[in-house]
Amino acid sequence: MPKKLSPRWADATLAIHSGEIKHGLNAPVTVPIARSSNFTFANTAEMKRWAEGKSKAYIYTRYGNPTLAVAEAKIAELENGEAGLVTASGSAAISSALLSLLQAGDELIATRQLYGGSYRLMRDILPRMGVRVHHVAANLEGVDGVVNSKTRAIYVETPTNPTLGLVDLRKVVEAARRHKLVSLIDNTFATPILQKPLNMGFDLVLHSATKYLAGHSDIVCGAVAGSRERVTKVREMMISLGGSMDPDPAYLLIRGLKTLEIRVRRQCQSAMAVARFLEGHAKVERVHYPGLPSHPDYRLAKRQMTDFGGMLAFDMKGGLPAARRLCDRSKIFLLAASLGGVESLIVLPIYTSHHRMSKMELTAAGVKPGTVRMSIGLEDPGDLIDDLKLALA
Ligand code: PLP
Repeated sequence: MPKKLSPRWADATLAIHSGEIKHGLNAPVTVPIARSSNFTFANTAEMKRWAEGKSKAYIYTRYGNPTLAVAEAKIAELENGEAGLVTASGSAAISSALLSLLQAGDELIATRQLYGGSYRLMRDILPRMGVRVHHVAANLEGVDGVVNSKTRAIYVETPTNPTLGLVDLRKVVEAARRHKLVSLIDNTFATPILQKPLNMGFDLVLHSATKYLAGHSDIVCGAVAGSRERVTKVREMMISLGGSMDPDPAYLLIRGLKTLEIRVRRQCQSAMAVARFLEGHAKVERVHYPGLPSHPDYRLAKRQMTDFGGMLAFDMKGGLPAARRLCDRSKIFLLAASLGGVESLIVLPIYTSHHRMSKMELTAAGVKPGTVRMSIGLEDPGDLIDDLKLALA
């Protein structure tokens, strides 16, 4: 098992060195890919020890694998959890985590503004399994009123997709402690560089590692961090549901993680420059970026995040036609879903993350037909602004 490193190291150092044992003669500097579905035992005595739960040997990659273990150690260190887990996708992390906690008859509380896929899991699938979901506002108003003896967990996402609203992490932890609920957070947008929910008292942190953690738009993967006990339960559920990661994408996740800190810092700087430019533009009605003092959650963002992130959204004055014109005219921003890669992306949430949602659901999510969402990449921020100037002209 990879060793846990000293917590006094900063994120940039942890991301590079956690989980990797080097300093040996002929030791490779990069992580070898253990591209094997299964592992051997030395003899039947070893096999017996494993069967009796006395050894942590690798036997089959769906259960665990040395390359995955390196990625897991890095995620655990960055999130400051006892343990980490990587999964085939963010959705596998989310569904495995929720199903590790909930059973028929249980109830879940979740904030209303969630990634569309998470919202649909709660709207369409959990109820079929006998789990009732109550959605509450981002300010958690009404939580105390919906909690009852069947409530097991509270699930939040902050900043939210796509309008970058914030949920007060302190309030979530207080509510969870008050009502003895397990607290879960999707930390995809913030990344552990900007916010460490476990330090604030959350029980489980989940990621679509497809996004910033991997960072290069070339793999789909997920991650979980928390206490050893909770992560073990999620792993057991993931093993049963089959949402395990393969070693090749795990290598790419590891490689991406090594530059996470520097990428996120630069993306925050560029997003701030783009947000300021858009806020001053005559054709833009409103910019949603928590780093702007005009954002309703600006003060909260300053309190609970170390910077404001690489995601932003804005509403065009001309509604959908104006939003479509801008997207179609941009030369640098790629018209693509997802986020967190090195390329800047632009999308219309009504056609991507929030498709198949009713008008009421869209209003609750703060999504208008003319809402445009951007993921800021690593291009030169001056070039991004020039591109937008031309596309908006
Ligand atoms: N959480 C958030 C905030 C997301 O944006 C996404 C995907 O877009 C997911 C979870 C789901 O992750 P994945 O696509 O890796 O399954």
